[in-house]
Amino acid sequence: MPKKYTLFTPGPTEVPDYIYQVMSEPLVYHREQAFAELFDSVGERIKKLLKTKNPVYFLTASGTGAMESAVSNLVSYRERVVIAACGKFGQRWNELCIRYGAYIDDLSVPYGKSVPPEELERRLRTDDAARYVFTTLTETSTGALQDMKAFGEICRRNNRILIVDAVAGLGADKLKMDEWNIDVVCGASQKALFCPPGLSFIAVNERAWEIMQKTRSPRYYFDLKLYKQFAEKGQTPWTPAISLFFALDCALERILKTGVEKVWEKHRLLAESLRAKLSKLGLEFMPEKPSNALTVIKMPEGINGTQIVEIAKTKKKILFANGQAEMRGKIVRIGHMGAFSRSDINRAFSVFKDAYTQVKKKRKVR
Ligand code: PMP
Repeated sequence: MPKKYTLFTPGPTEVPDYIYQVMSEPLVYHREQAFAELFDSVGERIKKLLKTKNPVYFLTASGTGAMESAVSNLVSYRERVVIAACGKFGQRWNELCIRYGAYIDDLSVPYGKSVPPEELERRLRTDDAARYVFTTLTETSTGALQDMKAFGEICRRNNRILIVDAVAGLGADKLKMDEWNIDVVCGASQKALFCPPGLSFIAVNERAWEIMQKTRSPRYYFDLKLYKQFAEKGQTPWTPAISLFFALDCALERILKTGVEKVWEKHRLLAESLRAKLSKLGLEFMPEKPSNALTVIKMPEGINGTQIVEIAKTKKKILFANGQAEMRGKIVRIGHMGAFSRSDINRAFSVFKDAYTQVKKKRKVR
């Protein structure tokens, strides 16, 4: 089938051909030694990316599954949680925790902002009851990055458990699980790890694990106790997304060969170069503290971002992402996490520029 579009969306991202190739290899049986070897390899590699010695459990689910596993394994009915949200994906923690009967202490900031660490500290000092802080590293709806190093320090100092959604940021934005005192990290295959969606994972430290032994919330598919038992044999409790394990192993091998720090730096440089070009067009960006994973451009008065996304799609076969919900038309999101090079970014820019110029001209005519 001919390739339809190039994805400059903030996930899923472009999957290189060599990843599709390893995915087409015949399956191995997941109760055999061959799978155990693959499982161990992916496990060791993902720990290096997360900068952790903690166990990592793999789920056949998208990123939200990993988030739900964090909530259902930690939070008991009527427990209090703090949610430090800065956009739609932060709100997902809210929705999940409500489903599990938690009381929410909502520490959210307006779109484009990041939660100031001192706000978090203040909140934790006045809220004795909340044991957990749920938050987002890279907020894909606004492009904002949050300061996980500061959050980690604050949570440890105040004896709280910090749970981080790194689904969009992992591999693009800096994250050091152990050094930064992060207790739980959730990630997924389809963003900066340039694999198709369907495989997610959750890393859990000893402090969080102890609590999980006592949590009263119901869970079955995502019961991490089972994942731990099976991981000891190099297996998952349920049938894993075997082909995605091939893919992730290959992607992680590439990332580690380059070096995690260099991969972060590559993302930083690509983000900077794209933003420098866009700034020259007089454009501004939504987040105050931008992530390196995506660029979120504010549309000037009278310019509808939906038209830009549409032109790029129909004329150039390039997909940018529109704003979500009330942000629709008001922003354009360009994803650049994963396997992109400078020439890809230049192409994305030139397509954006042409579409933007076209829409701007029409505005003038009216
Ligand atoms: N968190 C963030 C920051 C995301 O960007 C996404 C996906 N867009 C998710 C969570 C949810 O992941 P999924 O769609 O894989 O369930």
